[in-house]
Amino acid sequence: MVDNSNAWDVDAIYRRMGISQIINAAGSITRLGGTRTRPETLELMEKAARIMVNIDDLNRAAGRELARLTGAEAGFVCSGAAGGLVLQAAAVIAGNDPVKMRKLPDTDGLKNEIVIHTMHRFPYDQAYRAAGAKMVEFGDYLFAHPWQLEGAINERTAAVAYLCAPFSSNRVLPLERVCEIAHAHDVPVIVDAASMLPPRANLYRYLKDGADMVVYSGGKGIRGPQGSGVLVGRADLIEAAAAQANPAQFLGRGMKVAKEEVVGLVASLSAFVEEDEEAETAQYRSMMQRVVDALVEIPGLDVSLQHDRCNYLIPCAVIRFTDEWRGPSRDAIAAAMERGAPEIHLHQLGGPYELAVDPLNLTEEEVETVIRRLSEELTKQS
Ligand SMILES: *Cc1c(COP(=O)(O)O)cnc(C)c1O
Repeated sequence: MVDNSNAWDVDAIYRRMGISQIINAAGSITRLGGTRTRPETLELMEKAARIMVNIDDLNRAAGRELARLTGAEAGFVCSGAAGGLVLQAAAVIAGNDPVKMRKLPDTDGLKNEIVIHTMHRFPYDQAYRAAGAKMVEFGDYLFAHPWQLEGAINERTAAVAYLCAPFSSNRVLPLERVCEIAHAHDVPVIVDAASMLPPRANLYRYLKDGADMVVYSGGKGIRGPQGSGVLVGRADLIEAAAAQANPAQFLGRGMKVAKEEVVGLVASLSAFVEEDEEAETAQYRSMMQRVVDALVEIPGLDVSLQHDRCNYLIPCAVIRFTDEWRGPSRDAIAAAMERGAPEIHLHQLGGPYELAVDPLNLTEEEVETVIRRLSEELTKQS
């Protein structure tokens, strides 16, 4: 017989299901839990879930709030950034013409090409293809010239897609330049900036550069509902995106956002915007300085605090394995941390010789655990 005692106790239910808590020092990685949702957000959602409202009205009002908070013309709460990418493509391909909207993802005879830097191809661009887009690449893995973008645009072009991610290449054309070229051909530019918050300045930057639609994950740095996203931009395109999303019965219907998530995201974004970024950064710095101080003497490692625009959007403790390092490989250390109890995941995207501790999802107590486990693994005699 199934033991149903303590059915509403999170420790009990996870124990029964064989799920154990992990430590996510890797940042806002969805596979590792995303981010810790704001407690106030959850409280609000708990109440909002029990209040019936008109969803079209709620979506429109929430969109106005997102627009106000980002300086955009319009906004829409989408089902995560990936859901927002599907809506971006649906909007630029079908607009709000119900005949075209109903055809999707069949795009025969429609403007269906989305132009993208070869250097910007990434797994999530499948979300564009889910709406029936054909990806058209320009440039190569090292260079992209304005004439290559010009050459890729034609009468079937629905949009130019642009990826803003911490680790994307810095050899691509700047967003501003892409917007100039695309707009000269009357083609909109759609941006994926899912994981670029914080810094908060990135909430305004891409629209200022000329982007027509930008999507951010609501469940990453904003710490809103895990399955939500912020889609903002030009009013006509947002209207077209909304027309194809829940509760309408078009392509986006399968990416429903619950009413409590809609209002939860609005409140979370509003809290995010109002937070004191300097104080937050200082707190991350002091947490990560403790990691640096604890490991800095270990021979063969170069341990430092890093905070920059491209790789580490918030202050992280970065461990570089130098030529003098005699211990197990970086990958072996990362694997040992993941095998240990508790299971600890580190940030591994900085490069093949780097491991980092990202404070975004760490409590003070977890920082101590990470320090203890890293010290053990890095000073083990092999
Ligand atoms: C995380 C991420 C996504 C997906 O965001 P979700 O909100 O999890 O759907 C899309 N694009 C990029 C670049 C991301 O980092």
